[in-house]
Amino acid sequence: MKLADTPKDIRPHLLPAPNGKIVYRCLDCRKEYGIEQLLYTCPNCSQVLLLHDLAFQQLTERPAELWHRIFDYRKMLNIPALKGIYRFHEFIGPVIPLEAVVYLGEGHTPMIEANASLQELLGLRFFFKNDGQNPSASFKDRGMASALSYIHYLITQGLASNVLAVCASTGDTSAAAALYAAYLHPHIKSVVLLPHKKVTPQQLSQPLGSGAVVFEIPGVFDDCMKVVERLSEHYPVALLNSKNAWRILGQESYAYEICQDMEYDLQHKAAVVPVGNAGNLTAVMNGFLKFFQAGIISDLPKIIGVQSAHANPVYRYYRQTDVTQRRFVPVTVKPSVAQAAMIGNPVSMPRVIHLVDQYNLLAGEQRVFFVEVEEQAIMDWQLKANRNGHIACTHGGESLAGLAVAIHRGYVSTGDTAILDSTAHALKFIGFQQMYFEKQFPPEFEIRPDRALINTPLLVHPPGLNKVPAPGKPLRGADLEKFIRLVAEEIAERLNLKKQNR
Ligand SMILES: *Cc1c(COP(=O)(O)O)cnc(C)c1O
Ligand SMILES: [Zn+2]
Repeated sequence: MKLADTPKDIRPHLLPAPNGKIVYRCLDCRKEYGIEQLLYTCPNCSQVLLLHDLAFQQLTERPAELWHRIFDYRKMLNIPALKGIYRFHEFIGPVIPLEAVVYLGEGHTPMIEANASLQELLGLRFFFKNDGQNPSASFKDRGMASALSYIHYLITQGLASNVLAVCASTGDTSAAAALYAAYLHPHIKSVVLLPHKKVTPQQLSQPLGSGAVVFEIPGVFDDCMKVVERLSEHYPVALLNSKNAWRILGQESYAYEICQDMEYDLQHKAAVVPVGNAGNLTAVMNGFLKFFQAGIISDLPKIIGVQSAHANPVYRYYRQTDVTQRRFVPVTVKPSVAQAAMIGNPVSMPRVIHLVDQYNLLAGEQRVFFVEVEEQAIMDWQLKANRNGHIACTHGGESLAGLAVAIHRGYVSTGDTAILDSTAHALKFIGFQQMYFEKQFPPEFEIRPDRALINTPLLVHPPGLNKVPAPGKPLRGADLEKFIRLVAEEIAERLNLKKQNR
């Protein structure tokens, strides 16, 4: 749709000009810092930061209906900068001019309703939101679009140049960082640190293909994170982990999209999110909170944070029901098929603690819940989801396994509608499916393949067949006829098909 064809009353609002007053705010000492520089932690007390719009109040002055129409009309416009996460410009990064926005096709991922048999199995209505359909095949693109648009903005303002962007990653952060940095070549170079042998071959291929410098480090993600923190404290590098608050801001778009897709009715809804470093959970909570505070939605949905029993520090923290007794203790992770969430010391834990309190307070009751799932359940539910027409990765399976537990616990009831985060594309983690189907899981995963879920290819080579075609060596005439007949007959036999007389 052309801007000129939009209704007159809405037109002046559709192309956002830079606005707002964004500052970093420390979660502990509450000190605020300007955004002319990249900051990750508070220079005063070292706590993590979140970005705040000091002019947020002005956003609350617009009626909800006007906001709904602004977002809905923006959806129709053919303007790249408004096609992705910056459709929600006023909430994502109001200071960023549209010219600085880096749009690679992120966001607005499909929300696919589970089919009848899957819904019957769980006993409630639910959707998968396929964040694996982002450009680098995970939700991390949302945060990178924000972080890199901001860095791009600094470059256009002459406030940064020759940026060296670094991140530690369980695989998907580095894929997204390398992709967005490559788009801004030659202004940005990217460097990624990966735990050696702890990312899938598909994930490793991504930053390599994007031209990033890839370091493989002994240990697990938490170790890589420590090294990257040291680098960002002592050298002139831009940190792209979710410690970087711009990442969180971009990932809030996930919550805004759910609002838009649900026509801004969030009553009796539940968002189910796998939790690793907890950046995503932070963003989802903050996103719903901001729309709620601006009056754009009138209900806060439930939020279910899901962790594997093999990497469950957040779950353990909240398992303690006596609030005064809660102590955060990092855990030593064990191998997990939800490998991108295999994190024992989540960087965003202080943000989570802060936001869960605020969320439940504003909701007037507990609306944020945490559940733990077994590795076995993650795999089984992933496979079941995909047998019913989804493209869930292991973390999507973790969301579904988490929903099953949340129903069992009574956190979610049959009257609720759940939206499950399928955080990456199934193909990124396809090696786990293969291990399942080939019964090759190392014992530490504690996964025993269920025969009913195993699927393997069937080689067809009928005994009477002596000549077979090969590349460059096709069969002809009677040989080809025989090949076709015997192979078809063998397939028909295996499928128990009866011959039809025509
Ligand atoms: C990063 C990631 C997670 C975990 O998100 P956090 O923000 O670290 O909690 C889950 N699933 C996938 C596929 C990821 O890439
Ligand atoms: Zn501070």
